[in-house]
Amino acid sequence: MKKLTTLIACGRSLAAATALAAGALCGAGPCAPSLGADEVTCVAHPPTDARNSHYVSNREPLIASPLVKLPIGSVRGEGWLKKQIELQAAGFHGHLTEISQFLRKDKNAWLSKDGQGEYGWEEVPYWLKGFIAAAYLTDNKAQIDEARVWIEGAIASQDASGMFGPRGQGAKATVSSTDGPLDLWPNMVMLNCLQTYYEATGDQRVIDLMTRYFRFQMTIPEKDLFPPYWQQQRAADNLASVYWLYNHTGDAFLLDLAKRVHAHTADWTDGIPDWHNVNMSQAFGGPATFYQQSKDPKHLNAADRNWRQIREMYGQVPGGMFGSDENCRPGFADPRQAVETCGMAEMMLSCERLVSITANPVWADRAEDVAFNSLPAAVMPDFSALRYLTAPNHVQSDKANKAPGVQNGGNMFEMRSDDHRCCQHNFGHAWPNFVQHQWMATGDNGLAAVFYAPSTVSAKIGDGTRVTISNSSNYPFDETIVYSFDLAKETAFPVYLRVPGWCENPSIAVNHDTAFSPVENTPADSRGFIRVSRLWKKGDTLTLTLPMNVRVRTWRANHNSVSIDRGPLTYSLKIKERYTRSGGPDAFPGREIWPESPWNYGLVLDEKNAPAGFEVVKGAMPTDNMPFTQGNVPVWIRAKARRIPEWRQDYLGLVGLLQDSPARSSEPVETVTLIPMGAARLRVSAFPTVSDKPDARAWTVPPEAKNIKVSASHCFGSDTVRAIADGLVPKNSADHSIPRLTWWDHRGTHEWAEHEFDSPREIRKVLVYWFDDEPAGGKCRVPKSAKVLVRVGGKWIEPQTLGPLGVAKDSFNQVTFEPVKSEGVRVEVELREGFSGGVLEMQAE
Ligand SMILES: [Zn+2]
Repeated sequence: MKKLTTLIACGRSLAAATALAAGALCGAGPCAPSLGADEVTCVAHPPTDARNSHYVSNREPLIASPLVKLPIGSVRGEGWLKKQIELQAAGFHGHLTEISQFLRKDKNAWLSKDGQGEYGWEEVPYWLKGFIAAAYLTDNKAQIDEARVWIEGAIASQDASGMFGPRGQGAKATVSSTDGPLDLWPNMVMLNCLQTYYEATGDQRVIDLMTRYFRFQMTIPEKDLFPPYWQQQRAADNLASVYWLYNHTGDAFLLDLAKRVHAHTADWTDGIPDWHNVNMSQAFGGPATFYQQSKDPKHLNAADRNWRQIREMYGQVPGGMFGSDENCRPGFADPRQAVETCGMAEMMLSCERLVSITANPVWADRAEDVAFNSLPAAVMPDFSALRYLTAPNHVQSDKANKAPGVQNGGNMFEMRSDDHRCCQHNFGHAWPNFVQHQWMATGDNGLAAVFYAPSTVSAKIGDGTRVTISNSSNYPFDETIVYSFDLAKETAFPVYLRVPGWCENPSIAVNHDTAFSPVENTPADSRGFIRVSRLWKKGDTLTLTLPMNVRVRTWRANHNSVSIDRGPLTYSLKIKERYTRSGGPDAFPGREIWPESPWNYGLVLDEKNAPAGFEVVKGAMPTDNMPFTQGNVPVWIRAKARRIPEWRQDYLGLVGLLQDSPARSSEPVETVTLIPMGAARLRVSAFPTVSDKPDARAWTVPPEAKNIKVSASHCFGSDTVRAIADGLVPKNSADHSIPRLTWWDHRGTHEWAEHEFDSPREIRKVLVYWFDDEPAGGKCRVPKSAKVLVRVGGKWIEPQTLGPLGVAKDSFNQVTFEPVKSEGVRVEVELREGFSGGVLEMQAE
């Protein structure tokens, strides 16, 4: 048999043999000798000075596009990836018109010719962006027809000025997100929907609409173009659409508009101007979009610098995201801080766009991290619902308010199909965009495998011949990816295979010849691509092997906690999950998720070789193609662990904050199971380590977790009785930044609030911090009078104190008494005539 195989390993041994400089990754140049017609090289990236002949990409004077997104439909998901799109289309997102009020057609501003009506903000285009893409990717005629209704609505709404979509009162009907006369933010999203539609149909009306609309943008007065808030933060999305149109038409005015748009966009070039998680995920890379025109390295570099700065400050956690909840807060960087599902979808799309602009494969690594480890867990396994926030350490997912532990109050953790508004509509573009970026075209008329999930690409290469390459791998669970080639005639073209940053010894084989020897490589941020150029013919196969070793990552900024990785996957503790029905419609019901097994484990690391202590177990891919469930995971890890009794949930039900590792534990060593993080909807993904040695740190139970039950005679619906034992000391009596108990709307009445201890305690002092919102609110005042009671033998008695409990503002009021063994303490008040009152904090010592 004729040998066509060339083996390649991007690294030292072969590099030595071929005079490649030793270095982090395949530099530019041959890493292996050329055999026959094959040429295999390691390159940092595909060429950046050539323009693809077959697909629309950057025109002069924009920089050449080293990686070009193919039109929708060119890449299809297979296997588990296809299943995600199918589940999405069959799940709540595919049926959102039946669930969401924002998608009601009656009086909808997005379906109105003059832009007047209701629901004229981001929800319609947010939903349509993922819906239309999923519809085309699944060839779902009914859903394509549904998408067309909204596309036609947008096209029909354009007026003589060039403006389209909701405007005037229509734009303000749902939310007023700007001080200016125009809110162009929702239109940025609709432009994206229109582009997908154009790619699928070639409908010239899209080009015409966009041309007129962008001419309109040239006429908007300076002061009215992208004023705060959302549109100013996210206007690089508008810019990306300007370049999209320029690349299709070559209209020179668009380059002037691009400069104008960039000048009016929030400044993400010189730092991070805003700490809202979705703005960060969507806009951090915006300057690199403008780099395509400016060619100023500061615009290119800003994207990577922003990404790193966000991770350094708030992203010392696994899963590819960062702890922000809705907005980042200094001091809140524990892995229990969460991120919006919208943030995940936008982060993936930003990284996919950045890999296209830069051809730097590190952006693909970063997108995969989110796609595999964070996104799947934000959604129910059957896509019946999703939650607003998901954290790397997340041990209970119920609907109760978690503020101030997470930044935003209200129901953030419940899985719901009819709630969580922005995420509910916007999450749908994450998987369809991921599918579409699996393969991209290169400037030298080849193709690049940017991602490795199972997929099929059909695209023009070389002289214009069409090739179909399918990959039936189970990546990211399996190490080996086999590509099969189908093309009408033998054609020479290069195939680029991204080398993931975590992979130290990749290897390839053409047509199953396995004469190769993998070699070690040094860890690297970016390892470049393997380029395989040959005269490809029908029936050829290309096998890529990416050995996946267990790695232990240490998060020094988070108390030396650790995460366990294998390949692109991070692994979480398998916690028994109990799902209970909550709100939402029956067809797509809401769920809360409760832990049914212990989760407070620290890992026992092998001192000499930490990765060696983990046993990887491989199972089969599930027959239903949905690997992101506890029962279906095709690979898991056995690890040694001990429980840390002091690590508990806090009064909000949040996992306790991490403390220093190694944590001291004398609990027995157990074998626990770790599963891929994306399949763990309850999870511990950043673990403490444990030791029974003297230098291990003794953990403490945080004050608020000391099993105090609280109750009160009454509490206003938006306040919480838990506030009186949450350990948060107010700044003053009018401190609205922490939770409070108020007896509102009871006025002038007698009320009480109490702590009940889990077991009797000896106490000698009680401190109470009153809530008083004078003068701002003016409805709550310190009480007229107050006294303390203690419970002894089931009876409330007044201890002998020197005086009554004070009613001073802005400090604790305290009483002391002879020590008494008490089951609880109570404060009784008489409220002032005409006023209510409340308690911010209450302590017993
Ligand atoms: Zn959202």
